[in-house]
Amino acid sequence: MNYLELSVATLTGIGAQTASRLEKLGIRTVQDLIFHLPLRYEDRTRVYPIGSLTAGMTVLVCGQVEFTDILPRGRKSLICRIGDGTGFISLKFFHFTANQHNALKPGTWLSCFAEVRHGYAELEMVHPEYAVIANPEAYVTETRLTPVYPLTEGLSQGVIRKAVKQALNLCSKEAQLLTDWIPESILKQCRYPSLADAIQTLHAPDESVTIEALQNGSVPALKRLAFEELLAHHLSLRSVKNKTKAWLAPSFGDSSEITLQHFLKRLPFKLTGAQQRVMAEIAADCRKAHPMMRLVQGDVGSGKTVVSAYAALLALTAGYQVAIMAPTELLAEQHFRNFAAWFDGFETRVVFLTGQLKGNPRKDVLQALADGSAGIVIGTHALFQDSVQFHRLGLCIIDEQHRFGVHQRLALMEKGQQSGVRPHQLVMTATPIPRTLAMLQYSDLDISIIDELPPGRTPIVTSVISAERRADVIARIAGWVAKKRQVYWVCTLIEESEVLQCEAAEKTAERLAEALSGVRVALIHGRMKAAEKDAVMQAFKNAQIDLLVATTVIEVGVDVPNAGLMIIENPERLGLSQLHQLRGRVGRGEGDSYCLLMYQAPLSDTARQRLGIIRDSNDGFVIAEKDLQLRGPGEVMGTRQTGSVNFKIADLSRDADLLEVIQQVGDTVFNQSPQAIQPLIDRWLGTSTNYSEV
Ligand code: ADP
Ligand code: MG
Repeated sequence: MNYLELSVATLTGIGAQTASRLEKLGIRTVQDLIFHLPLRYEDRTRVYPIGSLTAGMTVLVCGQVEFTDILPRGRKSLICRIGDGTGFISLKFFHFTANQHNALKPGTWLSCFAEVRHGYAELEMVHPEYAVIANPEAYVTETRLTPVYPLTEGLSQGVIRKAVKQALNLCSKEAQLLTDWIPESILKQCRYPSLADAIQTLHAPDESVTIEALQNGSVPALKRLAFEELLAHHLSLRSVKNKTKAWLAPSFGDSSEITLQHFLKRLPFKLTGAQQRVMAEIAADCRKAHPMMRLVQGDVGSGKTVVSAYAALLALTAGYQVAIMAPTELLAEQHFRNFAAWFDGFETRVVFLTGQLKGNPRKDVLQALADGSAGIVIGTHALFQDSVQFHRLGLCIIDEQHRFGVHQRLALMEKGQQSGVRPHQLVMTATPIPRTLAMLQYSDLDISIIDELPPGRTPIVTSVISAERRADVIARIAGWVAKKRQVYWVCTLIEESEVLQCEAAEKTAERLAEALSGVRVALIHGRMKAAEKDAVMQAFKNAQIDLLVATTVIEVGVDVPNAGLMIIENPERLGLSQLHQLRGRVGRGEGDSYCLLMYQAPLSDTARQRLGIIRDSNDGFVIAEKDLQLRGPGEVMGTRQTGSVNFKIADLSRDADLLEVIQQVGDTVFNQSPQAIQPLIDRWLGTSTNYSEV
């Protein structure tokens, strides 16, 4: 009998109701329970002198009641002041019973556990866990740290702790059943404890384990499990890759030299070496009868669009359709204009599809895709809709792919599937991520890098200045506009609310228009209708607008070469990659260009350092690497950007060092112990992130 597979309902104290609550957390078996690891720990192993407390600590104290009172003012509350000879602290209760009140008589000793906060007059604990104790000398603290588990409605820490204890007992009796899938050699090399020991340590740390060591990740048991979890994610993505590589895809063959020359001749520039190299990599992929799964990473302005157009050309000449998906309408529109121009004269239609398109124009587009008269469609998420049917989809191009998750990308391929043949996939991103992170995040893709900018671009000169010098900045705009060049002013707000962001941008635009008479100021933000945005962007491109005030909607892709000055307000609020992306809107033409990072004083040390990184480098990869060192990968990747992978225990900002070897260990597992792959994935990935099930 393998106890790991036993249902949790077989444990003492777990009835049908608790079992169904545990199931909500993805816990069905004893194994699931064992891998339900603590979120954090509480330290009830030491009693802190009250005089040593500061706000923010979560600690155990013992004290003697000085007085207890009901405060009628405001919200009725029970206040109990306790002291231990080193100091006093107030306990505050908003819900309480008469019995409770009576039990807290002056002179009574209490043990209390809670977070310490700033109170009205002194430090306080709100609704502490407390117990009446005989006296502080006789009080026995816990010997181990107390684990705190992720919960769900109706479940208590007590219930989970009891259940885990039973599971661990089973585990220690029959440890051999808990298979250690990490190769022996790696366990030795990294001096990792066995799986059973590691699990035991995390659920019930022994006396030698301190809370600080758990927080900074220096506990070997924790490192080992974090490593195993990251490996499982990596293996899951690699399995996806292996699976997709076994699918069938149309082979595009070699497009005729004539078509190719015809296309290249229409381009107003000569391709860079990097562009040509990546194009060759794409062509080699598309010749195969299995799907291309390629990511093109290239800094802003490196010319990814034309590379993707080349891939589209290969598909078209082989008689297949192409779908291009962009994250915003603005960007989709820009691509549409580019592609429409580049493919003008080809015997096919280039169509545009977003959620905004309604009525007959929409019907027309859908019809053209279904009957194949449209060879290229460019759009937003709207391309996912059921009503969109393709005649013969051969290639999906996804721009700024960090906005889309693995699932979404695969869904688009599924959509294009026809009798077992699936389209090729090309994804593009201007968010460079350090090599180590790429191994985790993009393990399902082959990677091409465009590491060269088109010639003739002068680097952007970036300066960091305080908002107190706003007047100087405005004067600079006036001078710039007098030289017939254009300016971006980017407003950022801490609030997530788009409404507030737009309001702030509106106010800024009004004020700038007042301060700069004769300068044509316009506004663009995310709440404007697509047609309005389009009109503004067109006018800016046509130089009918001098100063464009924008929210971060212009972040991706928009291209106006004559705009060479950008002011970014409150840059300290944005991620470095996002700042670099924004700044990439300037420096697209041949003239010199500037970016002013106008911060709100005072700046924290880290913020100052981060803005310094942006000022000193124009290379997205360098910026990403430095940001990684400074802030840790969680921040660099940004949960919003990754489609947020939830790790049970790994923390990318703490465990970044583990990523170095993941790829190599992944190779070892694939080559030497492939039987370990599926069990590792099952053990660590819930169904939500289990890519192998796609
Ligand atoms: P990104 O990589 O940021 O998507 P784009 O594809 O939008 O960059 O290209 C940025 C600008 O550079 C566009 O105006 C594009 O036409 C131009 N461009 C692309 N390739 C070259 C090249 N080889 N030489 C000169 N300009 C180029
Ligand atoms: Mg682009």
